[in-house]
Amino acid sequence: MRSLLVVNLLLFASLLGGCQVAGFLECNSRECLLEAQQNNPTRTLAFWESQLQLPIALRYGRIPDRLLEYLRIDNKLNGFPSAVAAFDNAKVRTILGNAVASLPPKVRVLVKNKLVGVYVVKNLGTSGYTESILNLQGEPVAGVIVLDASLFDQPGNTWASWRDSTAFIPNSRFGIKTTIAASGENDIEAAVQFLLIHELGHVYSIGTNVHPDWYRDLAEIELSDYPFSSLSWEIEEYSKQYRSLFDDRFWQREKLGFYQKARLPAKQIAQTLEQLGSTNFVSIYAATRPEEDFAETFAIYVHTELMGKPYKVEALTDGMPTTVVTPCFRTTCARKFELIESIMNQ
Ligand SMILES: [Zn+2]
Repeated sequence: MRSLLVVNLLLFASLLGGCQVAGFLECNSRECLLEAQQNNPTRTLAFWESQLQLPIALRYGRIPDRLLEYLRIDNKLNGFPSAVAAFDNAKVRTILGNAVASLPPKVRVLVKNKLVGVYVVKNLGTSGYTESILNLQGEPVAGVIVLDASLFDQPGNTWASWRDSTAFIPNSRFGIKTTIAASGENDIEAAVQFLLIHELGHVYSIGTNVHPDWYRDLAEIELSDYPFSSLSWEIEEYSKQYRSLFDDRFWQREKLGFYQKARLPAKQIAQTLEQLGSTNFVSIYAATRPEEDFAETFAIYVHTELMGKPYKVEALTDGMPTTVVTPCFRTTCARKFELIESIMNQ
């Protein structure tokens, strides 16, 4: 999921008109890139219609060139390195195939008419990314998932610990350990499957009222229309930005930034996890935005409740655990648990 900024700028660019783009490589201005992105067909349902005819377990493979182009433009617009490249080999296909095949049937049913494909690239800049696909009326109705190649060379617990640690400025004494796989199952597939389910949470959310569409202007949103998000979020009156209902007691939340965006010192890991326990967020990643709140709750529910796998986050001081967080489904986030259950059983 990328920032709201891009679509707002797209709207701005469409007003500007002007620059004719043959390919984004010829662009030397922001307006030109925005127009190239707008002309890229991969956000239209028409581009993906043949994919949706395939069984869900076959909707992966080498990333289409036009989608690669879309990602490169998006990275360039967001100031990330734009060296995104296709990554596809037999090992990747086997791991992805197994990850999709072992999804609980309820999850496959939820996304079978919405997931157009899962692709892998190098240098994505994040572990996973979901983009919405629009119908002829411009309504979001489906999603495409892109995963980063680095996910395919780390065991599950190594990847999960690394992702959570990216929110903190490194310090040799203080660390974070996230367990998503039992010792005999701590392999690459465990990482891919966990993140795939998180991204499928994003795909499911497209076109529903679990949270506002991530491209909508928050000034137009009434959050009480979104039962899941309104359990944890509000839209600040003066700034029209999200804030959580717990920001007065979970003050680190606003400084949580993952993947090269660390702003919190590692010595605050234990305190951050303790404060998380007084909220209804299932994880620190969930506390970043309403979309991540839903996708993380969806992923951890499927992972622990439907698949019976472990989920535990520990703050470490000199290698020893000090604070431990486990899913809040039977404590502070029981209402979110009920909402996810009703989605699964619909
Ligand atoms: Zn996400």
